[in-house]
Amino acid sequence: MPSTAILWFRRDLRLSDNPALMAALDGCERLLPVYLHAPDEEAPWSPGAASNWWLHHSLQALDACLRERGSRLFILRGDSLACLQALITATSARAVFWNRCYEPARIARDSFIKQQLRAQGIRCESHNGGLLFEPWEIKTGADQPFKVFSAFWRRATARLAEIPAPSPTPEVLPPLPEAIASGRTQLSKSLAEQPLERLDLLPRISWDAAFPTTWQPGAAGAQARLRRFLDQAAHDYAETREQPGVEGSSKLSPHLHFGEIGPREVLKATNATVGDHEAFVRELGWREFSVHLLFHFPQTAEVPLNPLFADFPWRDPTPPELLRAWQQGQTGIPLIDAGMRELWHSGWMHNRVRMIVASFLTKNLRIPWQTGARWFWDTLVDANLANNTQGWQWTAGCGADAAPYFRIFNPVRQGERFDPEGVYVRHWCPELTRLPKRYLHAPWTAPVAILQQSGVELGITYPRPIIDLADTRREALAFWQQLRDTD
Ligand code: FAD
Repeated sequence: MPSTAILWFRRDLRLSDNPALMAALDGCERLLPVYLHAPDEEAPWSPGAASNWWLHHSLQALDACLRERGSRLFILRGDSLACLQALITATSARAVFWNRCYEPARIARDSFIKQQLRAQGIRCESHNGGLLFEPWEIKTGADQPFKVFSAFWRRATARLAEIPAPSPTPEVLPPLPEAIASGRTQLSKSLAEQPLERLDLLPRISWDAAFPTTWQPGAAGAQARLRRFLDQAAHDYAETREQPGVEGSSKLSPHLHFGEIGPREVLKATNATVGDHEAFVRELGWREFSVHLLFHFPQTAEVPLNPLFADFPWRDPTPPELLRAWQQGQTGIPLIDAGMRELWHSGWMHNRVRMIVASFLTKNLRIPWQTGARWFWDTLVDANLANNTQGWQWTAGCGADAAPYFRIFNPVRQGERFDPEGVYVRHWCPELTRLPKRYLHAPWTAPVAILQQSGVELGITYPRPIIDLADTRREALAFWQQLRDTD
């Protein structure tokens, strides 16, 4: 009987630098690449609509890569352990390999599966395919997790040289197990192979029309995106990454999230191509830090890391009209609206603008950060529990290494500083295109004659601001002070 291994693809939808794949190839004569669809096992953070769009196309691309090498992707839907056990029985596989995920629900599930399979005598191995360092590898001198990024990153950068070189992409893959190749699988009807379309990942209402023009999910798209970044924006990254009106960052986030490219490959290519790469590698460091935090403080996807904020007096109940205006990019504050429209249209938002819209929601509107995190979760193609949690908690002022609560972004000043010519705002808020740049970030301050000349009628063609920025800032600071006084 030829030795058969199962390779379980999850957030590592690539063949390059894939340690689980390399381990599976070592000695196996037949290989079954599988994807198991079980969104309920990730509850309460099952992937959102934009992530599902990406996943559909990424699985399609992975299947094509496997077919080019003489294999293919076998998709099942259902309880992951039951699927694996059914496949083991059907193919007589003796080993299962996967790359690790670090979200709390996945850790619990994967540990249980590993325990069960090993108890059945199955070799079961997990590997690190998604991080530069495992979240438990970087520790303080007192053997504690870090809560401050700069200290974490200092410790991590001292060890960058230890990171193994990325492994190559196999040119040919072992054949599928006989039972699968011949179509004679012994699976029960409820665990039958599923065509990708049956996973229902694509939206029923086509709000995703613009996604394919912006993105190419899959490993080839990830490599193309990396090349483009290294050829262009990478060289001025430290400066241009802050400007939402130019393509100044890599836009690798969804590719990294789905593991279509690994951070080792990105690091190696950047080191080899870009002279001053420190600022960019530091952002990869924030990605590592986010996973480190979620791993050590798994409750933080739901509750603030700083317990003081558990009692923060958010507006209760959340006024639905304020939340809707924020979600739809109709707040009357141009930079906020531009960001929220970019998100809806393309499934992505510039990092600086993410911070500004998050600050606006949590501080000016006093709506809980968890509500914002949920909206991002559903609308971002790069929605990632570690990065999203860290980004929201940081901005709200309640996370690790957080921006101090009293530092409230002023979206008008931020717009004038980071989008001085108004390229970004004009693109996403075309109704403001003709406003002179002096008034573009605060149309309500423009004289009536200028508004008329520019074709802007506040409250008709573009909303009046839904809140007063200065008043709400003062209120937020007063609530924060009260909270501190009662501590
Ligand atoms: P680049 O600047 O090219 O950076 C390269 C890579 O480093 C990114 O692809 C990403 O993987 C990582 N990275 C960059 N900045 C950060 C950061 N601040 N924290 C963690 N990792 C980072 N990022 C996500 O991937 N998924 C999310 O769900 C997410 N939610 C966020 C929510 C809020 C409120 C905020 C403020 C930030 C969030 N981020 C999230 C972080 C950041 O905005 C994005 O990673 C970044 O904008 C992606 O663009 P890029 O690939 O061009 O980044």
